[in-house]
Amino acid sequence: MSRYRLCPSPAQEAVLREHCAQARYVWNLAVEQQSWWRPGRTSAPGYLEQCRQLTAARAAHDWLRAGSQMVQQQALRDFAQAMVNFFAGTHGRPSWRKAGRDEGFRIVAVKPRHVRRLSRKTGEVWVPKAGWVRFRWSRAVPASRSYRVTRDGAGRWHIAFAAIPEPIPGPGTDCVIGIDRGVAISAAMSTGELLIVTQLSPARQRRLRRLQRKLARAGRGSDRRARVKLAAARLKARETDTRKDWAEQTSTDLARRFDVIRVEDLKICQMTRSAKGTVEAPGRNIRQKSGLNREILRSGWGLLVERLEHKAPGRVERVNPAFTSQRCSACGHVAAESRKSQALFACVACGFKLSADVNAAKNIAAGHAVTARGGFRVAGPVNREPQLALLPA
Ligand SMILES: [Zn+2]
Repeated sequence: MSRYRLCPSPAQEAVLREHCAQARYVWNLAVEQQSWWRPGRTSAPGYLEQCRQLTAARAAHDWLRAGSQMVQQQALRDFAQAMVNFFAGTHGRPSWRKAGRDEGFRIVAVKPRHVRRLSRKTGEVWVPKAGWVRFRWSRAVPASRSYRVTRDGAGRWHIAFAAIPEPIPGPGTDCVIGIDRGVAISAAMSTGELLIVTQLSPARQRRLRRLQRKLARAGRGSDRRARVKLAAARLKARETDTRKDWAEQTSTDLARRFDVIRVEDLKICQMTRSAKGTVEAPGRNIRQKSGLNREILRSGWGLLVERLEHKAPGRVERVNPAFTSQRCSACGHVAAESRKSQALFACVACGFKLSADVNAAKNIAAGHAVTARGGFRVAGPVNREPQLALLPA
């Protein structure tokens, strides 16, 4: 995703905020309709039915009619996509959008003539009802047919042009990598390397926690509260930025270095793994998987896999993670006793020793129990060994 700082004039900002409010209103209506649904009732209205309802609502409400139909319709379309993601198990249930948070709208049917460059550092984009809005031309702007405008908690506007990145060719050597989301905010690769989701520096994290405590104490509606809230939102926005950069760089690197990239199937993970423990290893990483770390890991991880699938189409495989932490990657023996501790794996059958996370990553790389879900290529024979450098135990 190519994101740029958008710099609307005060008059344009008012229009953009109106777009956001209407997109949020329509989205929340869709959430409400969905929440009425219970098993046994006729299904909640789908996208087409909702579009008809939107037309009726626009006829009845001046406020909606004055706004952009495209913005409102795309909010419905986004919601429909969110429901598809929810049923696919990769995302949570779409929830209410709050003013001042998750603010944004999408514009489609963008033509090349809707984006133009003014100078080396400045560009302009056509936004319905707002006109030409300037943005910082901080890097090349991809040819794109849609964009999304967002406002973060710190009050900054961004524009993101949706563009599926060009596929990156793999090395062509059939090498396979497996990745196991293990401890805290890192994931282990079957090569023994660690993938660490970038987060705020310890000093900034402390500052963020301090601000959050202050925020809890500050009186509602006070100036102080607004100031503290803005400062906290800026830090959070910075964190989100670094995580997105991390996902871009890491996905490019992995797509270039490996031909097949195997990851845990998130849908199955949700069922077998939780902060409270897993079916196969109760209580693994309880503390690390709870709270802020879990949130960082989850969003960083989801983004990474999404970008990997764009950059390495057909080369990303989702593997059932069951027993990956109990199976010996050297001899294949499965035993809970082999898992000596959170950090160490020592096979009770053959004596093979390895970092527990790397052992799990090797099992994932070997592609055991690859699910056929979503049209991903089914892995080869179960005993096929991944071609990767073995690491010292
Ligand atoms: Zn063994």
